[in-house]
Amino acid sequence: MSVILVHGSVETSTAPPYIAGLEQAARKGFEQLLATGNRLDAVEAMMVELENNPLFNAGLGSVLNRDGYVQTDGAIMDGVTGKFAAVAAMKNIRHAVSVARKVMECTPHVVLAGEGATLFAKEQGFAEEDCITEEQYRSWQTAMALLAEGKELNFSAFTGLKKETDTVGCVLLDDEGHLAAASSTGGSFLKLPGRVGDTPFIGGGIFASSDCAVVCTGRGEAFIQTLTAKFVQDSIAGGQSPMEAARLAIERMTRLTGEYGGLIVIDKHGQAAAAHNCSSFPVVLMINGVVTPFEIVQL
Ligand code: ASP
Repeated sequence: MSVILVHGSVETSTAPPYIAGLEQAARKGFEQLLATGNRLDAVEAMMVELENNPLFNAGLGSVLNRDGYVQTDGAIMDGVTGKFAAVAAMKNIRHAVSVARKVMECTPHVVLAGEGATLFAKEQGFAEEDCITEEQYRSWQTAMALLAEGKELNFSAFTGLKKETDTVGCVLLDDEGHLAAASSTGGSFLKLPGRVGDTPFIGGGIFASSDCAVVCTGRGEAFIQTLTAKFVQDSIAGGQSPMEAARLAIERMTRLTGEYGGLIVIDKHGQAAAAHNCSSFPVVLMINGVVTPFEIVQL
């Protein structure tokens, strides 16, 4: 049995184009699994698909930072080998997860950040491109104009303007019972240059082992400070179901930080769960190549 869970972040629209984008990504992941049988190929393929989709805050369509450019974070983790790699605060590079995978496979390092990560990506043949869509540029311009006037920013009130987050992430169980996770983001809107969220933090925003694979989304700072992905891992290793672990982890993050977010998780038996404390959380579950409805816990 293969199980894929892919999300488009909390507070993201659940309108048909968003769900279709996630389903398309899940299909790519499943096809890749059939083609190569390689779980890392599959999670990377899902992230590439969503990094190419301007609806999501990853790759093309990423939110802009305070200074008006895109900085991407991405990570990939293999539950079998325990290998993890990430890139952070990479400027003008679309495919953060693919670069992270190159870090894993072509360097002795685990994380590359900032200028060095960007340079490495270019050396590996990744194109430099601004990744800015018209919509994101307009959001940034509007926000900067409001800030200049000393007005309060309330993004959710601007029709057509995107909200702060829409990171993408996925977890997967393959036919052999092996797990993997990947996550990609443009981070938070108007972040300081160099700011890094939870996406590339092992144990904060991502974890994979022989027990489970988990990725988080939402206010990155909160997930880093509470090591939420590792909390989920420990809960499942301690005998909790993915559903219980996901619920407990979001409750705990909320209690400790008062912040918002969500997570998706799969365990070694193929049990999938998603929990969040926001107004929406688009998630697609695919079992053996078939999109399957499931319950998303909203706290
Ligand atoms: N967690 C990501 C970050 O803080 C954003 C998100 O998940 O939407 O960079």
